[in-house]
Amino acid sequence: MGLNKKSVDDINAKGKRVLVRCDFNVPLKNGEITDETRIVAALPTINKLINDGGKVILCSHLGKVKNGPNEGESLAPVAKRLSEKLGKEVVFVSDYNVTGEEATKAVEAMKEGDVVLLQNTRFRGAEETKNGEEFSKELADLADLYVCDAFGSSHRAHASVAGVTKFITEKGGENVVGYLMQKEIEFLGNAVENPVRPFVAILGGAKVADKLNVISNLLEKCDTLIIGGGMAYTFLKAQGYEIGKSLVDDTKLDYCKEMMDKAKELGKKLLLPVDSVTIADFPNPIDAPVEVEVYDVTNMPADREGCDIGPKTRELFADAVKTAKTVVWNGPVGVFENPTLAECTISVAKALAETDATTIIGGGDSAAAVNQLGFGDKMSHISTGGGASLEFLEGKVLPGVDAADNK
Ligand code: AMP
Repeated sequence: MGLNKKSVDDINAKGKRVLVRCDFNVPLKNGEITDETRIVAALPTINKLINDGGKVILCSHLGKVKNGPNEGESLAPVAKRLSEKLGKEVVFVSDYNVTGEEATKAVEAMKEGDVVLLQNTRFRGAEETKNGEEFSKELADLADLYVCDAFGSSHRAHASVAGVTKFITEKGGENVVGYLMQKEIEFLGNAVENPVRPFVAILGGAKVADKLNVISNLLEKCDTLIIGGGMAYTFLKAQGYEIGKSLVDDTKLDYCKEMMDKAKELGKKLLLPVDSVTIADFPNPIDAPVEVEVYDVTNMPADREGCDIGPKTRELFADAVKTAKTVVWNGPVGVFENPTLAECTISVAKALAETDATTIIGGGDSAAAVNQLGFGDKMSHISTGGGASLEFLEGKVLPGVDAADNK
């Protein structure tokens, strides 16, 4: 997909104050960053702007901030790590108000190539609400130009993602996308709109309800749609199979039938599990040891729960991946948090690592699984945004992309 949006290559940042919305929503444990992927992914855009002599003002959200601003969700650890990665000082504005006197002073003191990081944007409740106008304007007041590079947040029309662009435009500035956004959209966009075929999509995860539009849209675009994980059991029940105590959404049985009919009408292959790894009771804690038994879907006992695809399904899915030229994967095919029930999610990751096809991992759990297994560098692209990549695969327009100026 040609992205008809202006990028950082289309602006002259020299001497300008450039507000960059990054996705620094990194996992933290006891104040330490446990996965720096998102920080590393933001570096190309930041380095480009520094080298161009811009005054680089970074902002991001971190966490959900359910109970108001707090030190546990401060961006301070990001400022520290980012400074190490860039090899230069990152001035951190710790003020919970995000914008305001402290931020304004820090920006006024900036020289060309300097970097300032504002506090967690969600510390301002307005970030998420429709009344974010004031906050959007305050952010825009700090800058001349705006760069959105927060793919992981681009599906939300928040103040710092989309709201700010209106005020930048009003004062004659430009709104563009960063390199990370460009890369994400090119990979996901090409896969969906212009794939080298055969195009195989693999969907897993817990609930059908979360992926209704993804299933429907991907059926239209791909050649083969593979469904695993908890969501497969609603499809199997809709086909009349006994699914025992497996995860099911009875309100979506008709939807699943519709999708199976749609696949037939379009001449697409829809692959569902033919066997399951089952357990008697869901493990508590989730990684507790489990005793498993494998059953064909034709022969599942009523007192068992399907928690991973079985060995026959594993081969069926792997064969489809072998002949593919483009593969998109979103969602684990089993309860991968449990080592015994993670086997087939690992085998899917291996199958993708071994194929010559263009392989795209749609963020979230599947991205984490691929990285943990050390297959990260074997994939063509691992998305940094779970929710955003899903909405993209649904065919939705992402507000963070839409808000950038057209070329
Ligand atoms: P999602 O957030 O929708 O991608 O779902 C991920 C979750 O789906 C993980 O926590 C998995 O444990 C869960 N999951 C995958 N397969 C199953 C299954 N067969 N039964 C229950 N949960 C599952």
